[in-house]
Amino acid sequence: MDGLILSSRGGFYQVLCDGDPQPCQCRGRGRFRKDDTQLLVGDRVTVQPTGPGTGFIVDLAPRRNHLIRPPIANISRLALVVSALQPAPNLLVIDRLTAIAARRDIPVALIFTKSDLADTAPLAELYALAGYPVYRVDSPARQGTEAVRGAFATGITAFCGNSGAGKSTLLNALFPQLALPTAEISQKLGRGRHTTRHVELYPTGQGGYIADTPGFSAVDFLRFERMTADQLAGCFPDFVPYRQRCRFPGCSHRVEKGCAVLEAVEAGEISPSRHQSYCAIYEELRGVKEWELK
Ligand code: ZN
Repeated sequence: MDGLILSSRGGFYQVLCDGDPQPCQCRGRGRFRKDDTQLLVGDRVTVQPTGPGTGFIVDLAPRRNHLIRPPIANISRLALVVSALQPAPNLLVIDRLTAIAARRDIPVALIFTKSDLADTAPLAELYALAGYPVYRVDSPARQGTEAVRGAFATGITAFCGNSGAGKSTLLNALFPQLALPTAEISQKLGRGRHTTRHVELYPTGQGGYIADTPGFSAVDFLRFERMTADQLAGCFPDFVPYRQRCRFPGCSHRVEKGCAVLEAVEAGEISPSRHQSYCAIYEELRGVKEWELK
């Protein structure tokens, strides 16, 4: 039987087999028992039943993509939940995450929350210009949430946002049937740190799944996702139409004469803040060599 890993805890995997209403509890067999092939939430696997509701995972289907932290595979999209105010958005963090996702072949959508507290239009315009799907929501008032629910009904969506961005409030407004614990509750239960690495898929009820990734921090994300400075421009989709037109091959798109990316910034076709982030991340990545990534 083939199925989808919904959660993983202590060496046990909840696998929802195709056609089954309930997940079965599985253990990894053979090569999956050693650590060289880590089974991830979101993996498509083959299960050999061992009894009612139990089985062994005996095979793993090729992955479309995966992340190490949070540990999850086959993501249809990464939804970055960004608060317009309290806390104020950190564009460098957002741009770093979009670049890492691009490097991992994961599409990104941006959801700007707290549109009741601040005007989210400038942020939405900035990222729409960069080519990302953008949504503006006021979760408590349920404004804008229908569009998000419709867009993320199918596939696997990993929701990621810094604490205070209103991610839990948004998820509960989107999928009240899931009654996801908010960060505040997790902290009260003393599980704030414990849940950091735990990822679980919840059904949207329309064929898709969402993954809430509590305690997700951009720093942890970056530590495991290195790339070289030369690879960075390819991870800014808004640069891609221009970078082949630069005068010199190997252009770093920061200061060079005849750089088509810089001209596009001048012409307002690329947002200055995106280019500033690019330059800052480029500096961070400069020391990374190809062989260090192996
Ligand atoms: Zn250039």
